[in-house]
Amino acid sequence: MTDQILFELTQEEQETQSALLWQELESRALGCRACPLCHGRKSVVFGEGSRKTSLMFIGEGPGADEDEQGRPFVGRSGQLLTQILDAAGIARSGIYITNIVKCRPPENRTPLPEEMMHCDQYLQTQILLIRPAMLVLLGNTPTKWILRTTEGITRLRGRWVEWRGIPVMPMFHPSYLLRFPDQNKKGSPKHLTWLDIQEVKKRREQFDQTGSLEGITFG
Ligand code: SF4
Repeated sequence: MTDQILFELTQEEQETQSALLWQELESRALGCRACPLCHGRKSVVFGEGSRKTSLMFIGEGPGADEDEQGRPFVGRSGQLLTQILDAAGIARSGIYITNIVKCRPPENRTPLPEEMMHCDQYLQTQILLIRPAMLVLLGNTPTKWILRTTEGITRLRGRWVEWRGIPVMPMFHPSYLLRFPDQNKKGSPKHLTWLDIQEVKKRREQFDQTGSLEGITFG
């Protein structure tokens, strides 16, 4: 519905409407008490980055640093994600990054299905407003939630999967990579992640230059 309304407007009207919808969505999220995660949070970590991007990253949920600062992926694993993006030549400011749940689960546990269900309204609207050409899902939780699959990240990573017409690349979560600080050899999680991010970068460049993802293969 939102999509259809935006489609019928001029470019300028679309941008104004889009800005208003973002504002309303963010303010609703900042005051949200729809699930019990609201009780332990310091911040609602809504998401950040470019809202006019072809590439969106989705993680699991905020950790302690993110909760403290109100920004996604700023702790140790976030710093590693930034390093990976930098090394691949993807500007962090040019993509949009958010999580499945916007409030920190206690003790960094995996969000419960009912928490993800309540928070999904924000994520789905973010995806609808950005209309990314590609999605990257970081780790098991967003991969299983978005793709509605029981298959684990180890089996799914590195392959494009189609979701609602959008190519989706599941990748390891950077917090998983932190468990193997010294392993870079072929076949290691870090090495596989390096291959995955390069594929994402290649397709992102293709899309930004040609407006097409022709030739992409779905696994
Ligand atoms: S996690 Fe999402 S649904 Fe739950 S209180 Fe926070 S913003 Fe609301």
